[in-house]
Amino acid sequence: MAKQKKIPMRMCLGCQEMKPKKELIRVVRTPEGEVLIDKTGKKAGRGAYICPSLSCFEKAKKGKKFEKALNHPVSPEIIEKLQQELTESEQS
Ligand SMILES: [Zn+2]
Repeated sequence: MAKQKKIPMRMCLGCQEMKPKKELIRVVRTPEGEVLIDKTGKKAGRGAYICPSLSCFEKAKKGKKFEKALNHPVSPEIIEKLQQELTESEQS
């Protein structure tokens, strides 16, 4: 195998930059209509990605980017949970 594996890239909802999927946090809308933070990156459903950064999160939140990307309303609880996880990952 001479060919190198391509790194999957995704766009952050906040800064709109393309980044390696692994560096981003995945938010998924499941076929059941739930919106979850997908830590494994393997859940079925429509996914959206964001940098583990509060500034990107704020931008995405302000622009209702999660709703648009997932084509589904995102409850304030989910937003809060996401924000919490981001804060934790920024601190570590
Ligand atoms: Zn970003």
